[in-house]
Amino acid sequence: ETSATLASFDGNGTTADGHLVPLLANVGGAKDAVAAAGLGAQGVGLFRTEFCFLERDTEPSVDEQAAAYKAVFDAFPGKKVVLRTLDAGADKPLPFLTDATEPNPALGVRGYRTDFTTPGVLERQLSAIAQAASESEADVWVMAPMISTAAEAGRFASLCAAAGLKTPGVMVEVPSAALTAATVLREVAFASLGTNDLTQYAMAADRQLGPLAELNTPWQPAVLRLVQLTVEGSAAEASGREGDPKPVGVCGEAAADPALAVVLTGLGVSTLSMTARSLAAVGTVLKTVTLEQAQELARLALSAPSATEAREWVRAKLPVLEELG
Ligand code: PEP
Ligand code: MG
Repeated sequence: ETSATLASFDGNGTTADGHLVPLLANVGGAKDAVAAAGLGAQGVGLFRTEFCFLERDTEPSVDEQAAAYKAVFDAFPGKKVVLRTLDAGADKPLPFLTDATEPNPALGVRGYRTDFTTPGVLERQLSAIAQAASESEADVWVMAPMISTAAEAGRFASLCAAAGLKTPGVMVEVPSAALTAATVLREVAFASLGTNDLTQYAMAADRQLGPLAELNTPWQPAVLRLVQLTVEGSAAEASGREGDPKPVGVCGEAAADPALAVVLTGLGVSTLSMTARSLAAVGTVLKTVTLEQAQELARLALSAPSATEAREWVRAKLPVLEELG
């Protein structure tokens, strides 16, 4: 019966009491996007554009970039596609942006910071995105990786505006951005929590090192607290003006863990973006809890003394997980 539920999943993320949490896909190019649409994704929450150019020694031309982006947009006509500008460096070096001699690449010139040392690449990418967006029917949102300050968020928003892109956002994956979410969000239209890097930086544990896996999990109560602070920052930003809080989604691996997806929903995130093969399981588990129960599970996880206990305590309250295996 559960597998029937999984097979017929329609992509509509909702709690038992009808609180909507759109389930989106993380993609690296057109092939992933087409597969994700087939698996019921309601849009793309993270298009990792650096994946399109990992093999390139030189910067791809604007036309070449526009074609790669349009191919993803075209898989989701009328739907939201959140494209991330190049996140080169550390675990994803790009020869035309990355200085391979840096002593600490994870703390180095990566993501948005490549604009400090290689100006022009970001502006050209934004014009390629605008070109592709104007030729497609997707609702294109654009976000920058590795934003650390509100000033960086503001500068990114200005560059997007200059390129004619209407919905600028930032990834919140550096603890400083989570801690200053209200001022960061004043500058942009949305935020997306990158729990992979947020965990690495909050725990000071390299995400690529197996022996640090116990530290390097988004079940760490400290990481969940940063998620909560980001959502609270968005609410605080909205309290000073008319209108709704700006959306705070999650696009790290945490969203693909069904029990953690429930906790994140309870913490108040607005969308969950994940590898497409996890959509059905996350959607199935989400449907078994009310928003109030999710909030209760979030409080439980935040109060745990360790990641292991947070995970065990929450999982014990979600019997549907046993059926999913
Ligand atoms: C993240 O850091 O959580 C994220 C989604 O980005 P990436 O894994 O590509 O660094
Ligand atoms: Mg990241």
